[in-house]
Amino acid sequence: MDVDSNWATDWVRRSADAVAAHRADLTALDRAIGDGDHGENLHRGYQAALAALDGLPDDSTPADALMLVATTLISNVGGAAGPLYGTAFLKASGAAQGLDELGPADVVAILTAARDGIVLRGKAQHGEKTMVDAWTPAVDAAAAAAESGSDVRDVLEAAASAAEQGAADTEPLVARKGRASYLGERSAGHRDPGAESSALVLRAAAEAAAD
Ligand code: ADP
Ligand code: MG
Ligand code: MG
Repeated sequence: MDVDSNWATDWVRRSADAVAAHRADLTALDRAIGDGDHGENLHRGYQAALAALDGLPDDSTPADALMLVATTLISNVGGAAGPLYGTAFLKASGAAQGLDELGPADVVAILTAARDGIVLRGKAQHGEKTMVDAWTPAVDAAAAAAESGSDVRDVLEAAASAAEQGAADTEPLVARKGRASYLGERSAGHRDPGAESSALVLRAAAEAAAD
């Protein structure tokens, strides 16, 4: 079954819930290798997105919801993660333009555009201990699932599982980008907060498609 604008708005709600539930964990991860604000930053942004959902017209498209997330995250999250997440959703919205229903290939296009937006903005490659380390495995797994004939639900499930594994895999890495890179070798042994929050957001996307 394909997904529509209800999926997109449900994705926002579930992301906001997940970030709210895990904000202390995200902040603790950022305290270890950053400045201890990632959970609060993202929570503030997603609460703003949640409030803004009320203003979306009933006939809005998935692209409209993704654009709303982009603009609210850009203006409310701040730090490094605000522009990165903002660009991700801006590009995702572009990839969804003109579509009322999203099939497996469309979902892959949206996730790919989001990841490419993050890379364009932050210039991090895979393995540099950033949110890219969650998004790139997610995109690869989603593309492989779609190619093998999976429906949207299974494509998003594959993306979420790969993002969770990708976030866990950042633990031994030395950070090469962002604030954590100031710690050099001492950044190893801690999970990257942005990779962890990205896994939460991608799990929320899968849950929104599953119900
Ligand atoms: P700040 O570091 O400004 O306090 P946050 O704590 O909200 O911002 O976000 C930190 C997260 O941002 C990191 O865990 C990492 O995943 C991500 N990040 C930082 N710099 C980059 C970058 N250049 N490319 C991709 N992700 C990055
Ligand atoms: Mg921080
Ligand atoms: Mg900060």
